[in-house]
Amino acid sequence: CGIIGYTGNNPAIPAIVEGLRRLEYRGYDSAGVAFEKTQGLQVIRAEGKLGALDQKIAGLDTASSFCGIGHTRWATHGLPVERNAHPHMDGEGRFALVHNGIIENYAELKAELIAEGHVFLSETDTEVLVHVIAKGVSLSGDIRKGISWALSQVDGAYAFALLSRDHPKKIWASRKASPLLMGVGSEENFLASDIPAFLPYTREVVFLDNGDLVEMDASSWQVFDSITLKPKAKEVRHISWD
Ligand code: GLU
Repeated sequence: CGIIGYTGNNPAIPAIVEGLRRLEYRGYDSAGVAFEKTQGLQVIRAEGKLGALDQKIAGLDTASSFCGIGHTRWATHGLPVERNAHPHMDGEGRFALVHNGIIENYAELKAELIAEGHVFLSETDTEVLVHVIAKGVSLSGDIRKGISWALSQVDGAYAFALLSRDHPKKIWASRKASPLLMGVGSEENFLASDIPAFLPYTREVVFLDNGDLVEMDASSWQVFDSITLKPKAKEVRHISWD
């Protein structure tokens, strides 16, 4: 139900956990984060309140992780238990994804993927989305093209943020009928379901439209049409309220 993403020159986890706290008002049953480690992507998830996630994170060395995503889940497909909490990964540890919304045709897609050898660890529609993206990237050899292909395969509503093990400090995101916007900082950029999530860090906001695909790192961001992959001009707006 809540998404946050951070890429910058400061430790990602404190900003992500703070962002999740600021999205708590939206309601949730579990929470999780994914962040970059030297060895690849690490995912930490917990059932219940953010405090349970905090406790798990507290024991880890996250100080040198500068990019990550976080999620508070309101279960629609699959019980509110840890294995269904986001982020979800593809089977090979290449991608981690957080998602709000519902992939309506997930059961058909999942059956096809299982027939192709994909193995699933949860009951969620979201895990299907990250597997379809991984398949698209494998087919096209390109992340943007792979995401675009995946989005042509799925029906439903989504806002998502994606990390790729092979592209440190980058985040991809897109939305259709679920909220998502971008916060533009100085040498750091954010994604969130709602503005208060990153308001302590930046007041410069880019509102995303249905069909926008974002690619961002610490110092740059670009928005594309998720179907044509043509760059789209976007306006940065200053938020003056508290
Ligand atoms: N449909 C997804 C799930 O059940 C996302 C739910 C949400 O928006 O939090 O895991």
